[in-house]
Amino acid sequence: MIIFGTKGYLYQLAILTLVCAQCGNPAAHTLRKRVTKFTLFFVPLFPVSTKYTTQCTFCGAEQKVTKEQAEQLQAQAIGGGQGGQGYGQQSQQQPYQS
Ligand SMILES: [Zn+2]
Repeated sequence: MIIFGTKGYLYQLAILTLVCAQCGNPAAHTLRKRVTKFTLFFVPLFPVSTKYTTQCTFCGAEQKVTKEQAEQLQAQAIGGGQGGQGYGQQSQQQPYQS
């Protein structure tokens, strides 16, 4: 008997301040990568699907982003941020603390 299935993994890649499409607040968003892996006998073998999402910490709205967008956001989070040079793409840069 062969036991197979899938297993989901969730990675938090970055936290960014973005204007939420849902609530319109410049709130902190978590950038997440969700990987679904094929498992055989409960051993994860290879990823079946990889999805990227951002989630607003203010209202909890989740938004799908493409891999390209996710990479761009991640680069922004690393390059920009506190005391960074930034690229000036993001006009709203107030850190949101709740
Ligand atoms: Zn929101």
